[in-house]
Amino acid sequence: MCDARDINVHAGYRDAETGAPTVYVYDNFVGGIGLSEKVAGLLPDIFAMACRLVADCRCESGCPSCIYTSSYMSEGDVDKRATRVLLERLRDTHLQAQIPS
Ligand SMILES: [Zn+2]
Repeated sequence: MCDARDINVHAGYRDAETGAPTVYVYDNFVGGIGLSEKVAGLLPDIFAMACRLVADCRCESGCPSCIYTSSYMSEGDVDKRATRVLLERLRDTHLQAQIPS
C-alpha cells in the first residue's frame, strides 16, 4: 500500500556533503514511513529489476511504462539507450547505501 509520491530522490553530480556523485533517497513525509531505509537494503535487486523492465519494454525510445513518469517528463526528454547504460552500470557497481543516524 504505497504510492510513487511516498518516496523522493535528489541527485547531484558533485554533492557538497560527499564531494562525489550522490543520490539521496528519502521518505516524502515528515518523520518518514521507513520506505527509504528499506530501499537501501534492496538497491542491487531494484537496479536488476529496473534493467529487466527497460530491456523488456517493447517501445523504441522510452515510454511511461519503462523510463519516465508522464507527470514530470515527455518522450523528447528521455533516452532509452542512455537509461539502459546507466542502469546496467548501477546494477554492476557495488554502491554503498548509507542511512543517516
Ligand atoms: Zn517503454
